[in-house]
Parts: sequence; structure tokens; C-alpha cells
Amino acid sequence: MKYPYTHILIRYGELALKGKNQGKFIQSLENNIRQKLGSSKNHLDLRSERGYVVIDARNDSEEDLRAKAEKLCQVSGVVLVSPAIFSKENSIDTLYPLVKQVMGSYPGEKKSFCVRAKRADKAYPLTSGDIEKKVGKYIQDATECKVVNLKHPDIILHIDIVPKGVFLYMEKKKGIGGLPVGIEGRVLSLLSGGIDSPVASFFMARRGCEVDFIHFTANKIQSDEAVNYKVAKIAQILSQYSIHSKLYLMPYIHFHLAIVGKKVDYELILFRRFMARVAEALAKKIGVQALVTGDNLGQVASQTLSNIVSTSQAVRIPIFRPLIGFDKNEIIDMAKKIGTYDLSIEPYKDCCSLISKNPKTVSDAARLELIEKNSIPDYAGIMEATIKDAEILEIKNGSIMG
Ligand code: ATP
Ligand code: MG
Repeated sequence: MKYPYTHILIRYGELALKGKNQGKFIQSLENNIRQKLGSSKNHLDLRSERGYVVIDARNDSEEDLRAKAEKLCQVSGVVLVSPAIFSKENSIDTLYPLVKQVMGSYPGEKKSFCVRAKRADKAYPLTSGDIEKKVGKYIQDATECKVVNLKHPDIILHIDIVPKGVFLYMEKKKGIGGLPVGIEGRVLSLLSGGIDSPVASFFMARRGCEVDFIHFTANKIQSDEAVNYKVAKIAQILSQYSIHSKLYLMPYIHFHLAIVGKKVDYELILFRRFMARVAEALAKKIGVQALVTGDNLGQVASQTLSNIVSTSQAVRIPIFRPLIGFDKNEIIDMAKKIGTYDLSIEPYKDCCSLISKNPKTVSDAARLELIEKNSIPDYAGIMEATIKDAEILEIKNGSIMG
């Protein structure tokens, strides 16, 4: 049966639209949709109306339209995505042939159905109930679908009457919700090779932040090797949500050399503080307002309350920890949903296993400062050398830019 859909209907969260943020919300959403669908190459006919955005996909094949709908579900701010028929004519008589097309496209055995109508146009001459009854009767008379089931139908035909026309569709794909990336400014996320920090980064993008990433590695990574590098692959997946991100790869060799061979206590937490400070310095340089980590209270030795506090006290910039109160299972479920889990569990020699064998679980900032002063006299120089050696990758929409 011919694929009937010619448009993609996108619904966003209307609650976010209260007040003066409305214009900004829609503009960011539109920009992000265009970037997501790569519309610089192929022209994208997109319109926003109150409560929805519509994409004209009349020139797309079924496959292309489906692929676009799939991608749109990853755009922050999008709540529902539906391949739809759109018609400017919305009188009840003009609906019937469209209804027939949509119902006819349902594959397999004709099962029970129901019609759900919504009227955003209150001037429309029929109520939602009237539309449902009339269209329901028409379907029974004119198609093979005979059984109405209002509670648990196999097929739901949605009819949304809007002031400028009507949408007909069956599918409501769930988007990730949240706010469009860009309306909240930029954060810098400390990305490790693990499960948690990608999820934390995703949550910040979903609340409207542009997200850049910083990762500390044992060795200097050259940009041509980076494509196959685990953390760069994770960042590429995350950029499907954050759209446009940079990944700063920082070697921690300078820090390592500064403390190697010295009998320093608290290496792990000193390293945490070092990462936070380097990230803070970079944040200032690139105009970022806050840091993000995947810390989760009590998960491992570095994430006891006292160690988390000691890390925060090393810097003035706020550190957001969106996963602080989750259970590990919840984080894993989320990592699977956003597509980073399989990469995260690949083996990776990360720095913490290098630096610390017996991490301390209790620390206090004053004592740590003293240790830092005594053991790492040229702290500023080490930070500077680390930042100087950074390798920067630009990542857009799932791929590293050349
Ligand atoms: P994750 O699963 O995110 O790696 P984790 O459970 O392994 O977290 P830790 O290794 O203690 O926990 O790291 C806590 C947080 O510190 C991470 O979520 C991340 O934000 C940051 N972090 C850890 N290692 C690095 C690194 N090499 N580079 C950048 N940030 C890091
Ligand atoms: Mg880790």
C-alpha cells in the first residue's frame, strides 16, 4: 500500500513556551532541526506555528522521510514526531479521501480502530466528538476496518485540526523532550571513558545547554588517531544530541610527572582537583559558565561526599552533577537509551586506575591545599603546559569535522 505521508509534524513542550522565552525557544528549535537534518545541503521547508513545527517532505522517499523522523526524535525540545498528511483544506468532506489513504496504508490485517480528533481551531464548525463520530462511521463504511475499540484499539487515527489546515497521522514517536540546545548557554563536561559522564552530558544538553567536552588522557592524542579513540567515539554519539561540540583532549602527563615517585597521599583526589582546575581555566578561555561531571554520590572512592566537596572547593566555577542522586541501574538504562553504553563498557585504561590503588575516601580542602603546595610547587606551570598540549576536535552532528 502506498506510503501516504507527505509531512512531518513535530510537537514541542508547550509549558516551556510561557513568557518571553517563547521566541528564543522556537528559533533555537528551528535552527537545531535544520542542523540536524543537514539542511545546508538540501533545502528544508520548515514552518513553525503555535504549538508545532511542520516539515514539508513531499519530495522525500518513504525511506528518507522515516530517517528524518527518527533523527528528529533526538532533537532536544521535541516531544512528539509524526509522519503525517497535511492539508490546507480541513472541511470534513475534504478529510474523507485522506482518511482512506491513511487507513489503507496500515500494513497487515485490519484490526480494531479509533479516531482521536483535536481542534486547535475553536472556530471549526464541528466539535472533536463530532469529527470522531463522522470519520469513524466513514471508516466503517468505506474501508475494511469495521471494529471500533475506544480503549485499546490496534490502530489510532489522529486528526488534528489547526487554524491553517489539518494533520492526519497514526504514529506518535517520542522525542527526548527538554529544551532546545543553545537557549541556556554553554557548559564544559568532564568526559571519561565510563558510563556516567556521557549520561550527565546528555542531561545538560537536554536542558538546553551547548556542551563541550574535556577529557584527560595518559598520552597526547593526535587528531588523526582520534577517530578511533574511545572517548572521541562517545563524544560523537553525544553530539547527535548536543549538535555542535568541541572535545578537548588534555594529556595528564605533566601532572603525573610532578607527583610520580613522591610519596603523596590522596593522589586520586588531587588529580580530581587538578582536572577541575584545568577545566576551569579552559572554561574561562572559551566562555563557559559551568562544569559538569558524572559524579554519583557514593559510587566509588572518589565520589564520597567529602571527596566531591573537596573537588568543588578547588575551583570557583560551579560544577553540575546531574547524576548525583541516581542509582547505577538507572544510569545504565539511560546510557543504553542514548546509545553510549556499548562504547562505555569497552575496555579502556583510564587515568584513575593508573593513578590510584588505594584511594582515600575522606579528605578536606585545607589539608589538600597544603599537600599541593608542598608536592607540586609549580602548579600553575603544570596547568599551563597541560592546556598548551591540548588537542581539539570539532564534532558536529555525530561526526568529527575534518
Ligand atoms: P564515569 O563512568 O563517568 O567514568 P566513574 O564512575 O568511572 O564515572 P570516576 O572515574 O570517579 O567515576 O569519575 C567521576 C567523574 O570525573 C566522571 O564522571 C567524569 O565526569 C570525571 N572524570 C573522570 N575521569 C576523567 C577523565 N579522564 N577525563 C575527564 N573527566 C574525567
Ligand atoms: Mg571513570
